[in-house]
Amino acid sequence: MIEKETILSKTYRLTEPWKIGIEAIERELKEGDVLVQPTLASICHADLRYYTGQRRPEALQKKLPMALLHESIGTVIKSRHNDRQVGDRVVIVPNVPGSLLERRDVHDVTASYNEENYSRDNVFLGSGYDGAAQEHLVLPAACTVVVPNDVPDEIAVLAELCTVSNQAIQRAGITGDQEHVAVFGDGPVGFITAALLHYVYGVSSERLHAFGAVEEKIASFTFAKRHLVQSYDFSKEPLVDAVFECTGGRFSESAANQAIDLVKREGNVVLMGVTEDKVPLNTRDILEKGIRLVGSSRSSVGDFQTVVEGLRNKDFQHALSALVPDEFHTITCADDLMNALNETAAHKAWKKTFVTFTW
Ligand SMILES: [Zn+2]
Repeated sequence: MIEKETILSKTYRLTEPWKIGIEAIERELKEGDVLVQPTLASICHADLRYYTGQRRPEALQKKLPMALLHESIGTVIKSRHNDRQVGDRVVIVPNVPGSLLERRDVHDVTASYNEENYSRDNVFLGSGYDGAAQEHLVLPAACTVVVPNDVPDEIAVLAELCTVSNQAIQRAGITGDQEHVAVFGDGPVGFITAALLHYVYGVSSERLHAFGAVEEKIASFTFAKRHLVQSYDFSKEPLVDAVFECTGGRFSESAANQAIDLVKREGNVVLMGVTEDKVPLNTRDILEKGIRLVGSSRSSVGDFQTVVEGLRNKDFQHALSALVPDEFHTITCADDLMNALNETAAHKAWKKTFVTFTW
């Protein structure tokens, strides 16, 4: 048995809202692990909620100090697993099954991954566990997916977002053949869910309905039928077999209830939008119509494999490039990272914020 190796990782840790410092933290590289150096990351709303202190005080108390960022790619710089080589360009899988942290089954690490997706023992990078804002990220090899050469970095870094949508689509049982589907939310999550439904699952533009509140945003959904929620008549005959609610925040209530109006009898409503508040729902119609209501916010390694393969589709790449910012932030110190987060929090742009690390 090869002994453990200890590696120092320069880690950008959020110590309190609006404040990030650098800490050198010892990481242990064990059999079955890889050491990944993050190269490019995308800032998530979840990162912003921690950074700006919008999480409940108990959550902040429990989870800080912590390195943010879970939408990221990197380069393998050391490997203790036969399936990963030094130099591999990988997408990082942030949802790490507890069993993989404790007991590394080197040969078949992905076997029981899916069932563990919502296990209490799981850790999630950038949510109570140091995320990708660090120089030397140690992960079980199963929590990395090698990026094919024909997928550029700026598309690969969107993989994690796509996987969350992928799992939601799977949970709604969408095969793409005949379903009529609606997506609520004109932000990145709604956009990616709709793009995945169209380009990877084959839901035709005729059968795919995108609902948003802002005309310029919903206009980017060129591959779907586009509707503004303000002017749509939700009392019409139900339209779709499944609705993905990707709005979240203060619009969760109206969007979720419009989804209940819009879905056919025995249809699926998948909630993906995050809100810290409780949301009143029209349970009368959920019962009346026999609607299945599902929450979905995570993904596992199987979703990453599906998505990374799907990302090779040039049309899908082209659609996703709408979310790629014109300029990336280069991170060489904690201030750089705080600037990128400050700017993202201050200007709620439609495009994502990307940060490139120089270590
Ligand atoms: Zn995220």
